[in-house]
Amino acid sequence: MDEIEIKQLEVYCNHGVFPEEIKLGQKFLVSARLSFDPIGTADDIKRAIDYGKVSHDIFEFMKNSSFKLIETLAQHLADRLLIKYKQIKRLELEIAKPWAPIGLSLKGVSVRIARGRHTAYLSAGANLGKREAAIRAALDALDKREDCTVRAVSPFIATKPYGKTDQPDFINCCAELETVLSPMDLLAVLQALEGAAGRERGERWAARTLDLDLLLYDREMIKTETLTLPHADMHNRAFVLEPLCEIAPGAFHPVLNKTACQLLAELRGK
Ligand code: ATP
Ligand code: CA
Ligand code: CA
Repeated sequence: MDEIEIKQLEVYCNHGVFPEEIKLGQKFLVSARLSFDPIGTADDIKRAIDYGKVSHDIFEFMKNSSFKLIETLAQHLADRLLIKYKQIKRLELEIAKPWAPIGLSLKGVSVRIARGRHTAYLSAGANLGKREAAIRAALDALDKREDCTVRAVSPFIATKPYGKTDQPDFINCCAELETVLSPMDLLAVLQALEGAAGRERGERWAARTLDLDLLLYDREMIKTETLTLPHADMHNRAFVLEPLCEIAPGAFHPVLNKTACQLLAELRGK
């Protein structure tokens, strides 16, 4: 990928923890490295990232907000730029405080972060209430968010319940998202949407108005108490793999080292 670099943009503003930082303000230096797909030989200004505009946006954002931590400031600023400038595929930001008030002489303190766009796949299911409408409403709500775009939705399929079989049939589908959210933040968004659809958390695999599971997020492998990626049981579920293969047969499972299409073929062969 090609890059544009904005070096040490100077902004006098009011981030920090100490009263003098918030009241009096101090100098910050912001550097940004913007990665983008080569724009080719056409010399077309419309295709280029307007680094002047980006610089002014950084300046305004720094001036018009107040964060205690430059880490958080950097995160919010990165989100803002990725959301506004779709040509930016990846972004490195450095925010430096040359006058950091620590009572010692130093050249400065800085935070550097790298952020980008991610591809995630999710599985949606419902077997209570208006099942299709609940799934569509959740996907619409996701797409309306600035930090998510729904890029594809599979056909809806009717399936028999999995695990706990004495309950109504399900409607299932899969969707592909582009997002700037982290996996944990995306999971929280999905859980809020389940709540908004009237989901009551009972036992696992119980009947529900809406279930949104995160299947894959780039090639991330995560195992924490609240999130396992890839989804721990996706390879055993035809109601997940069939719709997933409709939109992304090549979606890659980084633990099993297989594509969705290969996983489905294996499951069918069992
Ligand atoms: P299953 O996870 O087997 O499909 P379920 O969807 O019925 O079962 P839930 O009650 O919806 O289970 O979720 C139980 C917990 O699973 C959630 O609180 C969540 O923190 C955790 N979890 C772990 N990994 C994931 C993931 N990839 N997607 C969604 N939830 C996950
Ligand atoms: Ca589930
Ligand atoms: Ca779930």
